[in-house]
Amino acid sequence: MKKLLLTAAFLTVLPMLCPLLAFPGQALLAEKQTARSAPTAPEDRTVVEAPLYTRQVPSKEKSYDESVTVRLYTGGTIRELSLRNYLIGVVAAEMPASFPEEALKAQAIAARTYTLYKLRLYEDPSQAESHHGAQLCDDPAHCAAFTDLAVTAASLWGESKETYSERVSNAVCETDGMLLAYDNAPIAAVFCAASGKMTESAKDVWGADIPYLVPVDSPGGEDCAKYYGEKRITRSDFCAAFLKEYPSAVFSENDDEWFRSVHRTESGSIRTITVGGVEITGTALRSLLGLNSANFTLRREGDELVFSTEGYGHGVGMSQYGARCLALSGQSCDEILSHYYPGTVLQKKNPDA
Ligand SMILES: [Zn+2]
Repeated sequence: MKKLLLTAAFLTVLPMLCPLLAFPGQALLAEKQTARSAPTAPEDRTVVEAPLYTRQVPSKEKSYDESVTVRLYTGGTIRELSLRNYLIGVVAAEMPASFPEEALKAQAIAARTYTLYKLRLYEDPSQAESHHGAQLCDDPAHCAAFTDLAVTAASLWGESKETYSERVSNAVCETDGMLLAYDNAPIAAVFCAASGKMTESAKDVWGADIPYLVPVDSPGGEDCAKYYGEKRITRSDFCAAFLKEYPSAVFSENDDEWFRSVHRTESGSIRTITVGGVEITGTALRSLLGLNSANFTLRREGDELVFSTEGYGHGVGMSQYGARCLALSGQSCDEILSHYYPGTVLQKKNPDA
């Protein structure tokens, strides 16, 4: 039914493409971080590793993930923990543990890759972030979400805590040391909950031209409960919120004139839109209004503006519900990853590498 509502939008879609400047690869991260500041806390102190989840899969080979220590800012403190325990906490926080095994493994590899990408990025002092002295934080909008299963497994999964903890742990342990590389370096393996029917390019969303973050078909997003979303806001509240951020905007009595020059990406999201005479990106408007995605249409109902969204998240890189769908259709984790990050190579690091 919601699809019918989408057709009632009064936005005029002009599929015009604006050439954007290409950015070097690392600009992706810098771009993402401009809208956020590093987390703050009243005090910094380092807590030495406490076991998160100790029932790990026995391995005949030496573990790369166990050989790497990361410093994570979480819960107001800095924890030092093995990459393995960190990734178990990330996969548990980022993807439903009920997802198919191959989707969980794809998530583990994507999370490991993104972690190594960030650690490498911050070797450059000019790119380093404080994180209060840590390398990573648990803000999903900044690094990745993280949960300490030793504390949270029961509340997350109830009686299934052992089963699900083991599923997550297995996904990490069975992919030990595996990462996605481009030009022999870990990629910015960003992911989102559910893209639209196609993923978005990093260029369209963040202005960074990344060869492996380009639009690909993405099935199964509709299985996400938040795939179709709706945000209602009164006209006056919208104007107030917009003017607070963009004071030069002008809103006439005729609200048909408020929204102009809508340019969409190849995948359907708003690339740019002119609101009250001010051109902004769809991502910026999404952030301002707290929309589920930048793939939206708009209609008017009485005094309200109704934004109808499709997809959940920024839409770039691996769609988690897409990974679930591909896994259910029989694809392996490496097939899922090569689909969502085209042109990348799956590598395996050894402990001594
Ligand atoms: Zn962070």
